[in-house]
This record gives sequence, structure tokens and C-alpha cells, in this order.
Amino acid sequence: MTGTAKERRERLREILRNEKRRLWQELRSEIFREQETLHSEYDIPQDMGEQSMLDVLSDTGLAVADVLRERLSRMEEAERKLEEGTFGVCEDCGADIEEERLRVVPYASRCVHCQERSEGPSYPPEGTY
Ligand SMILES: [Zn+2]
Repeated sequence: MTGTAKERRERLREILRNEKRRLWQELRSEIFREQETLHSEYDIPQDMGEQSMLDVLSDTGLAVADVLRERLSRMEEAERKLEEGTFGVCEDCGADIEEERLRVVPYASRCVHCQERSEGPSYPPEGTY
């Protein structure tokens, strides 16, 4: 691995780390926002660990729980790919995905060009039928 590739990987790791921190913060604030409602049923400690947060969250049945769990599993997938060295690589053309793009969309699996191509125009122009 060249020095540059190694540096890139470190920066990608940092992006994932930040995103993960943000996710957990969101999770925490979501749980505490609902605490009024949940308090009668759940005893929520301030220093709740990540696993117990997940447990509480799945017990609550909050709609946001599914969304956050989904994002957390994508995050784990991304971390696995980072270890394998396939994170940040376009699934279609194999090019490195732009770091700027990954900062905004950490789970992007295609480079911006392939993404645009695969999305294409959402609808055929009017009057073509
Ligand atoms: Zn591509």
C-alpha cells in the first residue's frame, strides 16, 4: 500500500468514526427526548452503554429506532469494508470515491459519476409517449 493510499484510509476511518459518534449522539438524544413517555416503563441510566441503548430502543418501538438501527448496521458494514480495503471504492467502476462525497454520504457505494448514471433522469421527459 502506498503512503497516499494509507493516508486516505486513515482519513476514511476518521470519517466513519465521526459518523458513528454522531449516530450514537442522535440515538442518545432520541431516547432521552422520549424519556418522559418511557420513564414509567424503563429505568434509563444516564451512563447507558451502547448495547443497552439498543435494547431500550428496540423495546420502545419508536419509528426512529428502525431508522437508527438500519444506519448502525450500514455503519458496521462500512467499517468491515474499511478493514477489507474496499470502503470508499466505487462498486461500478472501481475508482476511489471522492472524499468530499464520503464526508457528506459516508455510505455511498458509487462514485458521483456512476451514481448519476444509475439514477439517470427519474422520469422520461413529457411528451415521449
Ligand atoms: Zn464509479
